[in-house]
Amino acid sequence: MINIPKGTKDVLPQDAYKWHFIEDAARQTAAEFNLKEIRTPVFEHTELFLRGVGDTTDIVNKEMYTFKDKGDRSITLKPEGTAGVARSFLENGMSSGVLPAKMYYIIPAFRYERPQAGRLREFHQFGIEVYGSDKPDADAEVIFAASSFLNKLGVKNVKLNINSIGCKKCRADYNAALKGYLAPHIGEMCATCRERYEKNPLRILDCKEEECKKITAGAPRMTDYLCSDCAQHFNEVQSNLAAGGLEYEVDPNIVRGLDYYTRTVFEFVSQEIGAQGTVCGGGRYDGLIEELGGSHTPAVGFAAGIERLILLMENTGVPFPEESKPEVYFAGMDEESRKKAFALAMAARAQGIAAETDHMGRSVKAQFKYADKIGAKYVAAIGGNELAEGAVNVKRMADGFVQNVRFEDINGYIVQNRS
Ligand code: ATP
Ligand code: MG
Repeated sequence: MINIPKGTKDVLPQDAYKWHFIEDAARQTAAEFNLKEIRTPVFEHTELFLRGVGDTTDIVNKEMYTFKDKGDRSITLKPEGTAGVARSFLENGMSSGVLPAKMYYIIPAFRYERPQAGRLREFHQFGIEVYGSDKPDADAEVIFAASSFLNKLGVKNVKLNINSIGCKKCRADYNAALKGYLAPHIGEMCATCRERYEKNPLRILDCKEEECKKITAGAPRMTDYLCSDCAQHFNEVQSNLAAGGLEYEVDPNIVRGLDYYTRTVFEFVSQEIGAQGTVCGGGRYDGLIEELGGSHTPAVGFAAGIERLILLMENTGVPFPEESKPEVYFAGMDEESRKKAFALAMAARAQGIAAETDHMGRSVKAQFKYADKIGAKYVAAIGGNELAEGAVNVKRMADGFVQNVRFEDINGYIVQNRS
């Protein structure tokens, strides 16, 4: 027996409807916000992520699925969606097209992490990306899109936390202040944070180790160091959120610790799914396109983790709408009527009706049982008499109501009685 790789999961046929529900809500949100789908490859040149995600991040340092292909190129399975979209934006000259470029994706992503509840090695994201606007309205719209998506799912008690991590200019001052504050505690910090202290101190605020959390609790706040432009931007994002009636809290510990992430960062967090509570994370990355060799192009977006959302819905008893069931089941009593049942099922399908019939050689009684099990709305059992008369009793399974219908009228009958 060959087992599934660690940290991956099958979506079994009986569970796929949960995914469809979430994907439908994602596409519906995208339509409402005029976001168009972009599909980029599952793998990219490793270099893209070194530059597009950043070589001081956990993703790049520890989590990437990187390998040499047969042509000796270094290839990486995408650990997130933004870098590929940014590459495509540049490669396809979108900056000279219609701006803002508003896009979304639903993708698998790959990270070599320690698997636990809500943390997998292959997981899935719904993400959106808006390129070309540096206005706070764009930040707010992206946050509203995330909120609208979560509302469609019916999840409750998901908190919105926001922060601003400023721009290159004001962050330099902040980094100096932060390092000054942390210096006496270097010895108490985890090994990763000691490294971060040199390379990317902001990232220490994001550490999940208890000891580091204690230290950073009293750290200076980025929001106290924002330059006047960044402070104004942050204020306007907040007034946009408030104007739209969205509740939020400013959490100075949310960071996106890359040079080209700027200003707004945000997270939607739930307390209901354990330590991996962030169901959606996003922010502004005005420096990314330049980092990848393009001209200055402000951008903002988010990514939501689909597995965590399913977990949240399951844990809190939020119902998933049920999948559609077969509308009609045609049973056959003998060989000839089975052929008729098969033909009627095919004719129904040709009219867009979900129909089923027997392929297991079951008795009529067992076929009724099976039809009930798969949730068929109507059952029509055909035998010698029915063949002779050209009509069959069509039984509504919910209440046993029976109507005799001519074969040629069955499709019309089912369509007419759709609820
Ligand atoms: P975390 O702090 O939980 O590691 P992250 O900051 O690495 O999250 P992002 O890169 O912002 O996560 O990804 C966006 C979203 O994708 C997360 O909020 C989460 O819902 C989901 N996600 C990230 N990593 C995983 C994973 N390994 N397994 C399942 N979902 C994930
Ligand atoms: Mg992570």
